[in-house]
Amino acid sequence: MEIREIGVVGCGLMGSGIAQVCAASGFPTVVVEATQELCDRGLGNIVKRLERAVQKGSLKAPEKTAIEGRLRVTTDQTKLANCDIVIEAIIERIEEKNRLWRALDPILKKDAILASNTSSISITEMMMATSRPQRFIGVHFMNPVPVMELVEVIRTIVTDQEVFDSAIAFVRKLGKQPVRTSDRPGFIVNRILVPYLLDAIRALEEGVGSIEDIDKSMRLGCGHPMGPFVLLDFVGLDTTYYISNVLFEEFKEPRFAAPSLLKRMVIAGWHGKKTGRGFYDYSDPNSPKVMDLLRL
Ligand code: NAD
Repeated sequence: MEIREIGVVGCGLMGSGIAQVCAASGFPTVVVEATQELCDRGLGNIVKRLERAVQKGSLKAPEKTAIEGRLRVTTDQTKLANCDIVIEAIIERIEEKNRLWRALDPILKKDAILASNTSSISITEMMMATSRPQRFIGVHFMNPVPVMELVEVIRTIVTDQEVFDSAIAFVRKLGKQPVRTSDRPGFIVNRILVPYLLDAIRALEEGVGSIEDIDKSMRLGCGHPMGPFVLLDFVGLDTTYYISNVLFEEFKEPRFAAPSLLKRMVIAGWHGKKTGRGFYDYSDPNSPKVMDLLRL
């Protein structure tokens, strides 16, 4: 099945990145947001990123104009009627996502591929909000979308093979590297990453090492580009906590259970870089200071 026109719903952090990559890969892309103000903000963020690329010399000015010309940002869902694939990237709440899919179902064309960028919600649950679960998949882009190469493509037990294969081919056309996975919480990346991050927090709680030394160990001992606490602060402690709860709920295994310290930091509003505090204090963004979290 050939994909010619793309729809993206939600133009926040992920949706704006996905729309940008689709338009930059030559696809006419319709982006739907909730209000005109959010449409303007989302498109503004894409234009700013493209401007920076032109200034850096990685994008030519006429290419920027061409990319912008392929993007249509609107509040009108009926503009998705001709799209061959629609990628949903709205807020991570099952009731909101299912409400959206129920509204889109009668609008989208019969053979369109329906895709969600969810990090933690069951693809199987979402597909049941539509009349065509066999055409529903997950396409999980990584943040920041224009930079990160990986996309997890997720099938359910009822996904048509042709839909899955078309989605894999489409991801390649975006210049990304697809991996195939099935609808299980966390898919591949978070299933492995989240227990690793939780274990780093447990090691800290048990006095195995300091924040700095655990980070240093994984960087210098394992060749990771950043240690687990720097990564936790970047991903967001709230996001990690949320995903760990989803994993624990499904598998009931202690390795997925959130450590007490993580839970308390989330309640205290220390969500990492975005709130200025996590395992490091970002008051001076150029020189983060390690937090003293276990003092008495
Ligand atoms: P975000 O809050 O930045 O963006 C969500 C956008 O969706 C908002 O702009 C909001 O106005 C819009 N929206 C909400 N309801 C809508 C509706 N009915 N119609 C149109 N637009 C609507 O969130 P995000 O970080 O971009 O996350 C979006 C999705 O991507 C979530 O499912 C999340 O789990 C997933 N995801 C996030 C990350 C990440 O690192 N942030 C990584 C991978 C996947």
